[in-house]
Amino acid sequence: LATGAKAASKGKVVIATVKGDVHDIGKNIVAVVLQCNGYEVVDLGVMVHCDTILQTAVDENADIVGLSGLITPSLDEMVFVAKEMQQRRLERPLLIGGATTSRQHTAVKIAPAYDRSTVHVADASRVIDVVSGLLNPDRRTELDRANRADQAALREQYAKRRAKPLRSYAEAQADRFQDDWTAADLPAPAFLGPRRLDPIPLDDVTPFIDWTFFFAAWEIKGRFPAVLDHPAYGEQARSLHADGTALLQRVVDERRLTIRAVFGFWPALSDGDDIVVFEPGATADGGAERLRLPMLRQQDPQPKGRAHRSLADFVAPLGSGRLDHIGAFAVTAGLGADTLAAEYEGDHDDYHAIMVQALADRLAEAAAEYLHAEARRQWGYAAGERLTQDDLLRERYRGIRPAFGYPACPDHSGKFALWDLLEPGSIGMGLTESGAMTPAASVSGLYLAHPEAHYFSVGRIGADQVERYARRKGFTIAEVERWLRPLLA
Ligand code: SAH
Repeated sequence: LATGAKAASKGKVVIATVKGDVHDIGKNIVAVVLQCNGYEVVDLGVMVHCDTILQTAVDENADIVGLSGLITPSLDEMVFVAKEMQQRRLERPLLIGGATTSRQHTAVKIAPAYDRSTVHVADASRVIDVVSGLLNPDRRTELDRANRADQAALREQYAKRRAKPLRSYAEAQADRFQDDWTAADLPAPAFLGPRRLDPIPLDDVTPFIDWTFFFAAWEIKGRFPAVLDHPAYGEQARSLHADGTALLQRVVDERRLTIRAVFGFWPALSDGDDIVVFEPGATADGGAERLRLPMLRQQDPQPKGRAHRSLADFVAPLGSGRLDHIGAFAVTAGLGADTLAAEYEGDHDDYHAIMVQALADRLAEAAAEYLHAEARRQWGYAAGERLTQDDLLRERYRGIRPAFGYPACPDHSGKFALWDLLEPGSIGMGLTESGAMTPAASVSGLYLAHPEAHYFSVGRIGADQVERYARRKGFTIAEVERWLRPLLA
């Protein structure tokens, strides 16, 4: 195939999700789009080491290298790959894509490491334009010039943004969210420690699917169900929805995916910006420490009257005279997904192979919503909850389930502590060295029950907080920077 196809192909692209990262829906869509447009694609899959990517690019005489990533540590890995490309004089364009990447990070960190064209590709709809441009001798120069000019402007913007002052970490801490803890409603959960559930029937979970995000996976923006009637993408959305529901039916009928979950509760108190998790038996004065969950705090100046928030604020502090609790959960809907996707791939049906992944992601999120409702009941404060599907999807209930790697607790490494508490290995879930969950279609996080608890974004943090955070985590500064790259001010 290689030689024959090469003659007919418009060019060859080696693509991979970098080491430590597992998500590849976007990458797979890009691969399909490239192939449909006459390009040859060598897709190395997920968790691919730099050396494998670059050696393949050389061996295959690829015209372009494309890297994808979902989680923050992948940003540093991409910089590493760029530096290696420079070192090895690979001399071919580098494309950057995936949820965690941005035009800005590509401009500020990746492009300066590699002197050839380094282009951020925001989504699959842009890839043909970029690849055809880079491989066309007449268009290449202009595309590269425009890209470099854009990246220079982004670097300038970034320098200005960095210059915007932050509150000091001490000031931000002093301006924390405070509650009248003596009066706070702090119910005790019905059980303590981790509890592994029997596989959750798919039928119980499917009503909780938020289809809006199913379309987002295919790069169709718009709220479900309104998106089905969208003047521009309605037709595509309707056909995707029909195919998605048909595949879901098959998955349910033939039980092709298994949903597994573990969740639990622990006594907990906050100590500064740490959430301290105790063994059962703790009191308002504390007890035997199980582990600490160091949290981050906002340092961007907040509007008047709004606290500089940290998730630790939603747990009663040591010394408040009250005992509080937290919950933790890990749920996966990805067991069986790889096998089913591989079957479709074997039939050369990439469309359904990708749809399996997108659907498994939806089921994982739906299962997280389902499990959260159960956790609220077990926590004892939701007995009278009467919520419609829409209320649930709009999170109109008490409590939150912050997930490590998301804006309120953006450090993916927090998952290692969750793994210690929950031992999700027992339900087939793992973590890569970068804190990516396997199977990819998984959700994990904390449960916080405080009535005022809500999601927010930590935003930028200063060197003062990085230094303190490193000490609390037992990390070096360099390690914290790797985990928190996009937050560093
Ligand atoms: N409902 C959407 C979005 C899920 S976001 C979907 O179905 O894809 C994934 C998970 O991150 C949520 O289930 C929730 O656990 C958590 N989350 C959402 N916003 C967050 C924030 N700002 N900080 C921390 N965790 C967040």
